[in-house]
Amino acid sequence: MNTNHELFQRALKNIPGGVNSPVRAFKSVGGEPFFTQRAQGAYLWDVEGKRYIDYIGSWGPMIAGHNPPSVLEAVLKTARDGLSFGTPNPLEVTMADTLCRLVPSLQMVRMVNSGTEATMAAIRLARGFTSREKIIKFEGCYHGHGDAFLVKAGSGALTLGVPNSPGVPKELADLTLTLPYNDLDAAKDLFAKIGDEVACVIIEPIAGNMNCILPRDGYLQGLRDLCTQHGILLVFDEVMTGFRVALGGAQQLYGVTPDLSTFGKIIGGGMPVGAYGGRRDIMEKIAPSGPVYQAGTLSGNPVAMAAGLATLALVEQPGFYDELHRKTRLLTDGLLAVATDAGVPFSITRTCGMFGLFFTSEHVETYQQATACDIPAFNRFFHGMLARGVYLAPSAFEAGFISAAHDENDIADTLTAASSAFKNLFKV
Ligand code: PMP
Repeated sequence: MNTNHELFQRALKNIPGGVNSPVRAFKSVGGEPFFTQRAQGAYLWDVEGKRYIDYIGSWGPMIAGHNPPSVLEAVLKTARDGLSFGTPNPLEVTMADTLCRLVPSLQMVRMVNSGTEATMAAIRLARGFTSREKIIKFEGCYHGHGDAFLVKAGSGALTLGVPNSPGVPKELADLTLTLPYNDLDAAKDLFAKIGDEVACVIIEPIAGNMNCILPRDGYLQGLRDLCTQHGILLVFDEVMTGFRVALGGAQQLYGVTPDLSTFGKIIGGGMPVGAYGGRRDIMEKIAPSGPVYQAGTLSGNPVAMAAGLATLALVEQPGFYDELHRKTRLLTDGLLAVATDAGVPFSITRTCGMFGLFFTSEHVETYQQATACDIPAFNRFFHGMLARGVYLAPSAFEAGFISAAHDENDIADTLTAASSAFKNLFKV
């Protein structure tokens, strides 16, 4: 059996940075990642047998906790019939029915294999539909690693300080315009200048890749109205918020209807899945019904569909989101209380199942505020919590996630750990 350290040394030999996705590497918080051996409910166990209360949940998918019995059963049962067919399969149809039933703005949906694929396809479709080339995104928002999105991007790009990646052609990056999140006037000004050249505006309706920032009152509706005025498609990237903040996603929570939406994470229940969908007249432009090309060898994979459908069956149960919201409040109220008690300048943002921790006394509503927080304090807090068996996202620019499997004891244990971590924050 290898230790975490031994595995990381081995990983560094043959995997760039030792990881298959950058934020896992602990680059910004320092130190070395642990290697998970198994996961169940609210917990991860590393290869050395240490248990962590997990507030990442595989970066969002595990909303019902790790390895729920019904999801595992569905996966095993489906896998027995074959792993991939390369023909249509019935579970894809059930998935499309389910997504269109649960998210009112979805009239048609196409399955892909990741959130990145979903957003890339959505902007190609928006460009194909409008015959316009420019797109608008928001500073600190992350939409996967497609070339067009690596312009002032959040998540790992922000964590590692490479928001404009080498390798993205300048000509392509020039077509991506950025706006400050939560600033409607800035959007109005830009739209007035170049609105008729813009295919789509893509936004995380709740930003979860520059820590967690909620939209100001009326902001999303304001964007909706501006897009309608200028013939621009509004794309909600709900890869993170879909089926997390409410059954119908952030669009349901805020009552704003996008033209297209993208999904991932929860709809795959831990398997590699993404989806994009929306207005029928737009979606019908996708091949083979229309000319905009998009395809995938493994898209709609039966095992992945089974995992996703079993997860959606769990979140559809009555009271699921009320209970998740109650737990989120319990955790975040508690964290604020223990930080205050320890005299640490600290603030919290939260929505159902998702939260942000900020080392500042300000309430954070902008990218500028998020990046101006005390990042070294976050990094020390992260390690203080890790040492006490609580795994937070290893970056000050990621949202936290709580699952239905976290119970009141887990939350109480988290608060005990946090109280001690906060009190030791400024000790050398
Ligand atoms: N959009 C958002 C809002 C995301 O949070 C992410 C991933 N964290 C993506 C897109 C990309 O998804 P994936 O990592 O599955 O490609």
